[in-house]
Amino acid sequence: MSTRSEQLFEIAQRSIPGGVNSPVRAFKGVGGHPIFIERAQGAYLFDVDGNRYIDYIGSWGPMILGHNHPEIRDAAIEAAERGLSFGTPTAAEITMAEKVISMVPSIEKVRMVNSGTEATMSAIRLARGYTKRDKILKFEGCYHGHADSLLVKAGSGALTLGVPNSPGIPEDFAKHTLTVSFNNLDEVKQVFADVGDQIACIIVEPVAGNMNCILPEPGFLEGLRSICDQYGSVLIFDEVMTGFRVARGGAQELFQVTPDLTCLGKVIGGGMPVGAFGGKREIMDYIAPTGPVYQAGTLSGNPVAMAAGLAALNLLNSSSIYTQLESRVTELTTGLQELADKKGIPFTTAQAGGMFGFFFSDAPKVTTYEQATHCNMEHFRKFYHEMLKRGVYLAPSAYEAGFMSLAHTETDIEETLQVAEHAFNLL
Ligand code: PMP
Repeated sequence: MSTRSEQLFEIAQRSIPGGVNSPVRAFKGVGGHPIFIERAQGAYLFDVDGNRYIDYIGSWGPMILGHNHPEIRDAAIEAAERGLSFGTPTAAEITMAEKVISMVPSIEKVRMVNSGTEATMSAIRLARGYTKRDKILKFEGCYHGHADSLLVKAGSGALTLGVPNSPGIPEDFAKHTLTVSFNNLDEVKQVFADVGDQIACIIVEPVAGNMNCILPEPGFLEGLRSICDQYGSVLIFDEVMTGFRVARGGAQELFQVTPDLTCLGKVIGGGMPVGAFGGKREIMDYIAPTGPVYQAGTLSGNPVAMAAGLAALNLLNSSSIYTQLESRVTELTTGLQELADKKGIPFTTAQAGGMFGFFFSDAPKVTTYEQATHCNMEHFRKFYHEMLKRGVYLAPSAYEAGFMSLAHTETDIEETLQVAEHAFNLL
């Protein structure tokens, strides 16, 4: 007999393309059918069949404080009672801007948008307008949302689906997007030596989280900073995933490298659809209405979204939170590593703050896109389904990072490792 999730997926496909509103939810990377969720609380998801899962996706990053956090929920409800949207400035937008600036010191001015995609798309346009150059440089396997210029050799769902270059993007657009290997400074230097005076910006995930989880090699981010300085290009950190996640001030705080512009999303909305981009005053003032580069949004700075996001950021009020998150992640990654080692299964992990990845790879450390895409996918799929069957919800793709929340307890991690032991035994 089919489950309620299976039935819903069947029905969903009649009216929604692929049955989902975002491709990676369709489980294409692991096979099988998606789980339909009814509610979530703390570290757990509860599906329509009455199953409970320990969740390591956290709505793909926003749920750093755990699902349905009472203070965030109450802030959203309280704001909703005063009206859902005004299309005018509100005081909450100033509080949000000041909060972001206080947490991320490289940001002197910030503009709110409605998604990570909007944040990166707008930051790129701004960099192009500011520098009066057309080309941009990105890294293979980094995903920056689905705007045309950025969906070239992208990661995440685009990797899982095997469509790194999507139809619908004119070659004339894509030709301005130069793509090089993550963690390979020599390639960046070479491209800049050739066409550096035409490159508006480098956009990078400072910790790559859309081809699993790959940390920057020492000197990589610093190198990008000095190349941008040398050629007058804008350095954009896409911290949609890493912002307020790997440290209070994001990856730029963790690695002590200062970008010109920063893109934010996920955590900043506390679960509501929010993104933001900000940075140097001089560059940000180049955007409308102060400057000539156009960017706008009917619902940008939405009062309910601002209230939820601010409540979340206010709760992330000390760096000890990040120490706690990190130690939970370490418990999980070292536990998984020990179990894999015991079984002699080639396996390695990566982590930064509250984010992590694991690879079925015999490399001691995965630092490149090439390595990430040559892991044992059969092992990953089997492991994934065994975990899911026993109540552990991991990202349904080998190219996604995992996320820990403050609601995950030691008991949750112990339970996860027990389930993992069973899953490794079956590989
Ligand atoms: N940048 C990065 C680094 C991301 O991980 C994502 C989404 N996973 C985006 C941008 C796009 O954000 P959104 O899905 O909110 O448009």
